Amino acid sequence: MPVQRTLSIIKPDAVAKNVIGDIIRRFEENGLAVVAAKMTRLTPEEAGRFYAVHRGKPFYEDLCRYMSSGPILVMVLEGKNAIALNRKLMGATDPKKAEPGTIRADHGESIEANAVHGSDSEENAAKEIAFFFGEVEIHSRNAA
Ligand code: ATP
Ligand code: MG
Repeated sequence: MPVQRTLSIIKPDAVAKNVIGDIIRRFEENGLAVVAAKMTRLTPEEAGRFYAVHRGKPFYEDLCRYMSSGPILVMVLEGKNAIALNRKLMGATDPKKAEPGTIRADHGESIEANAVHGSDSEENAAKEIAFFFGEVEIHSRNAA
């Protein structure tokens, strides 16, 4: 399995619920390392650029409003198979349909306010990481 990097966001609802520590614990216990992290707050315009692939969908405007409604914690996670592993730990988009024990099942409020974001492919992971972090801000644990 390849060592990969993926972008993780703890979304405004989960930051507001004060469950940052519980979410990071799940990553660390499952072999993912936090190699970059910062708290920030997006403008609606920045949220719109980040989720540009959803432009035009019925939930897009609401999504931009929600993602800019409060602070978020943005992280780069690194580990074997990090992209798929993070998606597995997150659970399905709709917390009601997410497998028990996943982050979204335990902390998501709704299909919109669903606690976490995770990149869904290598190509998107690279783009999303570059959206938030420069290479010098990422501190690999798997340096060759
Ligand atoms: P993310 O990209 O945030 O990791 P995802 O890949 O599981 O989530 P996407 O289809 O990419 O799901 O949707 C991006 C985000 O848009 C979702 O996480 C959620 O916050 C919001 N969203 C998706 N579908 C809906 C919907 N039907 N109604 C409201 N909000 C939605
Ligand atoms: Mg997505």
